[in-house]
Amino acid sequence: MAKNVLVLAESKQGKLRNVSLEALTVAQKVADGGEIAAALFGAGASGFVQEVSEYGASKVYVAEEDALAVYTTDAYTQALCQLIEEIQTDIILLGHTAIGKDVAPRVAARLGSGLVSDCTGVALEDGTLVFARPIYAGRAFQKKVFQQGRVMATLRANNFETQTMPVQAEVVYFQPVLKDLRTVVKEIVRKATSGVDLSEAKVIVSGGRGVKSKEGFHPLEELAAVLGGAVGASRGACDADYCDYALQIGQTGKVVTPDLYIACGISGAIQHLAGMSNSKIIVAINKDPEAPIFQVADYGIVGDLFEIVPLLTEEFKKVLS
Ligand code: FAD
Repeated sequence: MAKNVLVLAESKQGKLRNVSLEALTVAQKVADGGEIAAALFGAGASGFVQEVSEYGASKVYVAEEDALAVYTTDAYTQALCQLIEEIQTDIILLGHTAIGKDVAPRVAARLGSGLVSDCTGVALEDGTLVFARPIYAGRAFQKKVFQQGRVMATLRANNFETQTMPVQAEVVYFQPVLKDLRTVVKEIVRKATSGVDLSEAKVIVSGGRGVKSKEGFHPLEELAAVLGGAVGASRGACDADYCDYALQIGQTGKVVTPDLYIACGISGAIQHLAGMSNSKIIVAINKDPEAPIFQVADYGIVGDLFEIVPLLTEEFKKVLS
């Protein structure tokens, strides 16, 4: 049965987030002929209309109020609730991003909807939408269905193919009534980060306490650069001040699903696995053959990372050139 779907399309540093394009592609599947709409909030949002229409959004709701220029929980919650109530959509999809994780539960609570968060699979089974999500740090998957009401879900990045479906988009300039906003963002001071965004990277080279120092991360950075990937870390490495906590992967860090995850000098504690065990291919480099990381690795290299990582970098340079 045809369903109307709304996707909250997010942008970051002037680019539409890939997970939003993944959500639009999922929308193409679950709409089953219904209307696909995208919501674009914030300054310059209208600049993304063309791109979302390439991925099937035939209606694009744009709200460019000053209060939505930078994400705040209050403003986004109010705007999204008002939009959903106005258009009475059946399904709402968001990325499982910092914004999606924050705003989706509030919107669901306000509207009395259910919410399935951090989905890694969406399937239509006999006309019923079934959402899969990892539990127990990725050791098992749970399948969830909605028994009634509106369907709302956040989708984990890098788990769904993106596919274009160009359509002609109707743009609706939507003006939410935003009141009693409790917080105002005065300024954002960005930490200097370079390279690929960790949460959406297709390749991650990650270092643990075995990297031993800040300088020890340099060979990992070189390998990541050659592979067009990002650098990640275990909490062990962050706690030891070898790198910034922004790189931490795991239960209390980022959850990632790259095509290739190279774990260097990481033992494989359950809390680390919670953030990366759903990566498509895992390569572990560790000098301890008994390290638990080898239990989840597709390829294991027993040895000293300071010898192996530069060798890999050289070989990849040759192969990729
Ligand atoms: P270690 O366990 O010390 O492992 C270092 C590894 O490096 C060893 O296996 C060693 O054999 C290997 N090694 C050493 N030298 C070399 C070398 N030259 N070449 C190759 N291998 C070498 N951890 C996370 O990562 N992310 C989280 O989000 C997270 N959340 C947590 C939440 C809670 C509530 C708690 C209690 C813990 C959490 N932890 C998290 C910490 C986690 O339990 C581990 O302590 C941490 O992951 C260990 O980091 P590590 O693997 O880098 O270090």
